[in-house]
Amino acid sequence: MINQERLKNFLIELIKIDSLSRQEYNVAMRLKRELEELGASVFIDDAGAKVGGNVGNVIGHFSGSAAGAQPLLLSAHMDTVVPGQGIVPILDGDILKTNGQTVLGGDDKSGVAIICEVLRVMKENRLPCCPVDVVFTICEEAGLIGAKCLDVNHFRARTGLVLDSDSVGFLFTKAPAANRMEFRVHGLEAHAGICPEKGINAIQVAAEGIAQMQLGRIDHETTANIGVVEGGMAVNIVPNQVILKGEARSHSSEKLARQTDHMQRCLEEAAARYVLESAGKRHAARVEAKIERDYDRMDVPDSAPIVQLVHAAAKNLHLQVQTSATGGGCDANVLNQKGLVVANLGTGMREIHTVNEWLDLKDLYLSAQMVLEIVKLNSAKVQ
Ligand SMILES: [Zn+2]
Repeated sequence: MINQERLKNFLIELIKIDSLSRQEYNVAMRLKRELEELGASVFIDDAGAKVGGNVGNVIGHFSGSAAGAQPLLLSAHMDTVVPGQGIVPILDGDILKTNGQTVLGGDDKSGVAIICEVLRVMKENRLPCCPVDVVFTICEEAGLIGAKCLDVNHFRARTGLVLDSDSVGFLFTKAPAANRMEFRVHGLEAHAGICPEKGINAIQVAAEGIAQMQLGRIDHETTANIGVVEGGMAVNIVPNQVILKGEARSHSSEKLARQTDHMQRCLEEAAARYVLESAGKRHAARVEAKIERDYDRMDVPDSAPIVQLVHAAAKNLHLQVQTSATGGGCDANVLNQKGLVVANLGTGMREIHTVNEWLDLKDLYLSAQMVLEIVKLNSAKVQ
């Protein structure tokens, strides 16, 4: 019942509307119009102002025609990563890709297009439909900050799906928690040629600390990274400051805390080795750490009604869906943190966050069929 041609065309139309994080206005307006046409009352929240963007999250309420059915949340994000301006989608058989200059933006416009197509099918066939809350978020790629600004009191639904992952046939129910870290390593400035002994080289301190750190894949559920190093002014100045930015993620809260401590300790131990007496004054390198919880983990049990619903829909379509854990965080982490029960279903996007991003339309259609079946089943399930 999915209209493949219409779904494909709508996806391509959305891909052609630029929507980098904080610049989602045009696509938000297009989607507002689409949702209103489908019969939703649409509301745009104030998240845009809060995060310095040009539009907020788009929230659509479908009142529902199936008496007694439980409301369902369907969500996807509107923003795309760089390079993502002037995207030229190229259709090669069933493969949608780009000219290699930009990402495709199938992350996450595939999710957006699927949600709209499913609601259109429900409407045009006058199928009894449960109440549906649609949320198209901003700034997922900027640290899930659109979702973080969401007031979930706007939703009637307490459970649902985010459509924002690659493999069709996988339902991500577990995702790690993440800490975001910024370390400011302070040294002491001095002329590098005339009196280097009066300085403490912050870059060297940082380098020694990083060299002691366990980074990369720590174990099967924990990863860590130092991703940004900023510091130094000139080759003839002993640098007095360097800023390191990094992260750690884990499916275990304990391991996350341990890894975060470890990274901080490595730097503090390196700093402790740099103490200097100069003109009767004692100088020591030091580390200022700013550690923030980026997002909490997602851990939806297999027994959750939403997981059961997805399995039941797959069975009706003679498909297999496997619940799985991912190493990435997405809006679902935030929604779960806010007390909803939300899992992340695949849409067929591939090689995301690269200019080689592509999508097999057959996967897209399959995913849309799955979501349609999920909505139909939820609409038939009277509590
Ligand atoms: Zn995404």
